[in-house]
Amino acid sequence: MKIIVGGGVSGLWLAAELKARGIHCCVLDRGPLGQGQTLASQGMIHGGTKYALNGLLTRAADVIGAMPKRWRTALNGEGSVNLSAVTLERSDQLLWSTDSMASNLVGFFASQAMRSRMTRIDATSEPAFESSAFKGHLYRLMEPVLKLDTLIPAFQQQLSGQLFEATVSALTCRHGQVIGVETDQGALEGEVILTAGEGTEALLRSAGFETPRMQRRPLAMGVIALKQPIAGIFGHQLGATSKPKITLSTHEIDSTQYLYVGGQVAEDGIDKTDTEQQSAIQEAVTRGLHWLDLKIDSVDVFRINRAEPDASGHRPDHAFVDAIAGCWVCWPTKLALAPALADAILPRLQPNPQTPLPTWPVATTGRYPWRLN
Ligand SMILES: Cc1cc2nc3c(=O)[nH]c(=O)nc-3n(C[C@H](O)[C@H](O)[C@H](O)COP(=O)(O)OP(=O)(O)OC[C@H]3O[C@@H](n4cnc5c(N)ncnc54)[C@H](O)[C@@H]3O)c2cc1C
Repeated sequence: MKIIVGGGVSGLWLAAELKARGIHCCVLDRGPLGQGQTLASQGMIHGGTKYALNGLLTRAADVIGAMPKRWRTALNGEGSVNLSAVTLERSDQLLWSTDSMASNLVGFFASQAMRSRMTRIDATSEPAFESSAFKGHLYRLMEPVLKLDTLIPAFQQQLSGQLFEATVSALTCRHGQVIGVETDQGALEGEVILTAGEGTEALLRSAGFETPRMQRRPLAMGVIALKQPIAGIFGHQLGATSKPKITLSTHEIDSTQYLYVGGQVAEDGIDKTDTEQQSAIQEAVTRGLHWLDLKIDSVDVFRINRAEPDASGHRPDHAFVDAIAGCWVCWPTKLALAPALADAILPRLQPNPQTPLPTWPVATTGRYPWRLN
């Protein structure tokens, strides 16, 4: 049996691919499914345009370019992973520049580099941008945004009976090979696949492995509750550099609308106090959407690490899969790259005997972690 440790998008996608091929597997998670980076993400299925804002088609843009199509196939229920129960927030993302020369220039270069995927649109066609006070440029990218709270149930539906709540405390080794896991529910033997995000590092160390090495890239995300809702926005405000100034998603939860704010402001905020970061986020968002006259109720900071293969602090540009002592170590590095991660590992897995699934507690459904406090 394949034992997948970690029920975020990478473990769940892989489990669904294995199931479609009749390969026996189970997924173990220490908490509610998806409640790590997956539900903390902004659900954007990037096709690389975000990485080409300097006008250069980087390797990252190239690798990730095929992903929106892969996801669309799954969303249409046409592939081995059936995500037809998943709802989209939008089928596109917006990029906008404000009226500054620098950001218009970045927008121009991005549109040249990615002309086939990115089209300039009339601001009046988008309710959030139709104000005459919006003086920038608006672009549409045909790359979908998932409604993440529908993603986990879609996987649960497909993987019923295979998802368990269990905290893996250590890898079990025999003759220098990993042969299973120890958990708070008991021990289990099988081929171990680590998709445990940030938890993978401790599990590798439990078996004395120093490699593959993991890096954490922290973010101080903004969570803004609005007193009055605005028209939904899923997209990126272009700045003067190749990184978006802010990346925004809008979410309706318990009759309140939230702006979830990432991008450069979330990266720049990691060493700021919460109070400093709250001000920085509020300023960035009110400037970046100055024509909307936002009625802000509260601003919170949600801190989270991106867990990735070591790339000396830089953004890794592909899904990572490596093996050590018969144990697979996986980091997708992007939600969008979950299919690429499965593609990388599937041909390398060995068939192994069917063993009974554990009779452990069934894993529950995660919620947006930035809304839990
Ligand atoms: C703020 C933010 C925004 C992002 N936005 C985007 C985006 O818009 N688009 C995009 O493509 N990517 C985005 N990403 C990246 C993306 O979220 C991650 O690359 C992806 O979700 C990682 O999925 P995963 O399944 O590998 O890890 P995770 O989702 O972190 O899942 C790991 C799971 O392992 C479990 N686990 C850990 N240790 C143990 C253990 N010992 N025993 C049992 N279970 C364990 C955890 O409980 C967790 O559920 C974003 C990331 C962040 C942080």
